[in-house]
Amino acid sequence: MKRDFTYDLLIIGGGISASVFVSKYLKNNITKKVALIEIGRGLGGRSSTRISKRFKGWKLNHGTPNFNITNSKNNLLLKSYIDELLENKFIKIDDSEILFLNEDSNLETIKKSELSCGINYLSLDSMGQLSQNIIESNNLKGKIDFYFETLIVDLKFNDKEWVLTSKNGDKFKSKYLICSTNLLLHKRSLKILNINQIPLRKAIPKNNDKKIDLLLKYLDKQSFIPRLTFLIYTNENYSYKDFYSKKQRYFYLKNNLENKYKFERIVFQLQDNNKLGIVVHSKDIEFINSYINSIDEEVFKQKIISNFNKLFEWNSVVNKLTFDEKISIMKWNASQPSGIAVPLSLQFSRKYRIGFCGDWFEGEGFGRIEGSILSALILEKRIKDLIK
Ligand SMILES: Cc1cc2nc3c(=O)[nH]c(=O)nc-3n(C[C@H](O)[C@H](O)[C@H](O)COP(=O)(O)OP(=O)(O)OC[C@H]3O[C@@H](n4cnc5c(N)ncnc54)[C@H](O)[C@@H]3O)c2cc1C
Repeated sequence: MKRDFTYDLLIIGGGISASVFVSKYLKNNITKKVALIEIGRGLGGRSSTRISKRFKGWKLNHGTPNFNITNSKNNLLLKSYIDELLENKFIKIDDSEILFLNEDSNLETIKKSELSCGINYLSLDSMGQLSQNIIESNNLKGKIDFYFETLIVDLKFNDKEWVLTSKNGDKFKSKYLICSTNLLLHKRSLKILNINQIPLRKAIPKNNDKKIDLLLKYLDKQSFIPRLTFLIYTNENYSYKDFYSKKQRYFYLKNNLENKYKFERIVFQLQDNNKLGIVVHSKDIEFINSYINSIDEEVFKQKIISNFNKLFEWNSVVNKLTFDEKISIMKWNASQPSGIAVPLSLQFSRKYRIGFCGDWFEGEGFGRIEGSILSALILEKRIKDLIK
């Protein structure tokens, strides 16, 4: 049976930007009826954690493993929010070792990567739990209705309200709408949702709102970095060669090695049961395509282990794998936006009572958690007096 729900405010997406936005918004608007709609099984989005049903006891951060903040000194809004997360003990400074591997596998400890410069932070629990903690802070969880495993496929706006339709035909109505994902605003939605018009464009036809037209124009030029992550569930006694005991350890590959082995970064993740999980990231297009076209996934997995072993053959801290490890593969079609970022001035349309946040907005944090959090904080400040 198709259902019909009505709220004051609806939020599409349950990643970190939506979590930050809704927790800040509800703190000041406790009486509002709010719901969050997410296609995944829980919160976190691209900063979520795989809690395997098959492999008990393992929690692997399969999207972003941690996050870096490059610009909090000059940004008080961001700084005070990071301080809040630190005070609440949701995050801590990540003092894990970051190692850069070059051709002869000598180790360097220079923090140069776009994903590791500035100050690095780690969720005290898993990355997925961070979004959960953010929403649960100030006892706000009970004030929100959550609709998980719910994919919004259509948007409509009549003067009175927004009407969202989910894939199974449920209708969600609200006066205000926040989109924390740009899927419904971008041409990639046509293929993914098997539709013939971008949902936001359909809801707000051209020449009705300059801001919306511009937003869609910028997004038309935005592209995305696909990634594969390989989650390696190591065997019982797998450990480092040395006595390293911090929660994570990162190995970044310099360009020449990345080209050779197809790995971008390898993140070792110590589990609560002391097992050592490994998440390997790849953004090599040819390699990703060879995975998509592979006839036998097992052969592809063996290739990953073989590359891993060759890469670490002479390494002083990493042991080889034995080829009987279990591996899960996660394909991220749009792991990070790239190219054109959307100006923050286009974050809200008063006329259409719609706001946007996420890592796809301009700034130093573009394409990263930093940008997601900041855009959510700015949006909340901008609209808190507008939503009546
Ligand atoms: C493999 C990988 C590695 C990364 N490494 C780093 C890193 O080292 N450092 C860093 O800072 N960042 C990194 N990132 C990027 C970082 O994860 C993102 O910037 C951040 O998580 C984005 O959060 P968000 O809330 O803006 O978007 P998302 O997390 O994408 O949240 C949007 C949510 O909307 C949901 N959704 C979309 N469309 C619909 C719909 N129609 N109906 C219902 N729900 C919908 C999605 O399922 C998703 O949960 C990485 C990402 C990946 C995938």
